Amino acid sequence: METKKISKVDLIFEHIDPREVLTKAYGMTRDEIIDEILESGLKGRGGAGFPTGMKWKLCSEEKEKTKYIICNADEGEPGTFKDREILDRVAYKVYAGMTIAGKAVGAKKGIIYLRGEYKFLLPQLRMQLDGFLKMSNEIGYDFEIDFRLGSGAYICGEESALFESIEGKRGEPRNKPPYPTHSGLFGKPTVVNNVETLVNSVIILKYGSKKYKQMGTMFSTGAKVFSVSGDTPIPGIYELELGMSLLEFVKEFGDGDTKAVQVGGAAGFCVPRKLFASTVIGFEGVPTGGSMKLFNSSRSMYNVLHNYLEFFTEESCGQCTPCRVGCQQLLRGVESVKKRESKSTYLNELVKLADTMKIASKCGLGQSVGNAFKSIVENFREEIIY
Ligand code: SF4
Repeated sequence: METKKISKVDLIFEHIDPREVLTKAYGMTRDEIIDEILESGLKGRGGAGFPTGMKWKLCSEEKEKTKYIICNADEGEPGTFKDREILDRVAYKVYAGMTIAGKAVGAKKGIIYLRGEYKFLLPQLRMQLDGFLKMSNEIGYDFEIDFRLGSGAYICGEESALFESIEGKRGEPRNKPPYPTHSGLFGKPTVVNNVETLVNSVIILKYGSKKYKQMGTMFSTGAKVFSVSGDTPIPGIYELELGMSLLEFVKEFGDGDTKAVQVGGAAGFCVPRKLFASTVIGFEGVPTGGSMKLFNSSRSMYNVLHNYLEFFTEESCGQCTPCRVGCQQLLRGVESVKKRESKSTYLNELVKLADTMKIASKCGLGQSVGNAFKSIVENFREEIIY
């Protein structure tokens, strides 16, 4: 598998003149904008990795007059804090990305759904937005942006639960289909993009898809902002080209004693040291919305797993049985094995339960609980048992 050397870049946080990019996009047709994003190979930076250009194209083809652009800033994945930094430092690029997306799909209204815990950012964001809207109106855009605050529920980062929350209802995922590009917020065609994805769309329009594609790999073009935490001497936010091996990553950020990296937060995968060299960070290997947590030998992987299961048990919206009951049973199950109340072979039954949750749960939360569960149980079984 193709891997890249570690390479730091500075595009997301680079200061640019937004007027220049907005003016360029204003002079392009809707199809030209969408083609440029499609050509870049940009995939969503929230974790799911759906091709952004395709999302914009599907929404642009809808005949409805009212459409919405939602910026998903409900950054709740444990260990992820990069969207907060982007909004704090270059919010104007997020506004520009939304405005350009609005033109591409034919939407006049955008909403930033901001994580409740980031409420402290709101005064500065509103102030910056006023100046931005004045500028975009001068160029000729007719696109409004507003904010909605979440209330601390992890599940509201799921796009259809996010719609329910904005509509004033309990934040629970909807059945799919219909998909948001056809029927999203208030039943209208809606594009939901992550904060970082929107900034990437601005970078692509500024520098061109050809230049953008020179970064990363064939399946994971561009760069990505990583939130690095855990047992590292240099925790923080880093923008790196996609496609490096986990070994390269650990050489740069580890403390010399890294035994595992949880890639992608609680919903992601725990990769043990023996797989660092063969694991690619990107959509062809382990994808991540940004969370990279390093664990050294002082850590109990039982505690790590227990922590994640408590988190999912707390955050499951309870709407469907496989997830609501499954999270509780996985948590109780590992506790009973640890206390020797159940045999160690009970872990095999719990792995089967995690597999069932993957196919039977209604949304990504229940479907992804098994990622961390299986990867920790399979690679650190002895730490769960003893
Ligand atoms: Fe709710 Fe979990 Fe079912 Fe998703 S999988 S709908 S979070 S109960």
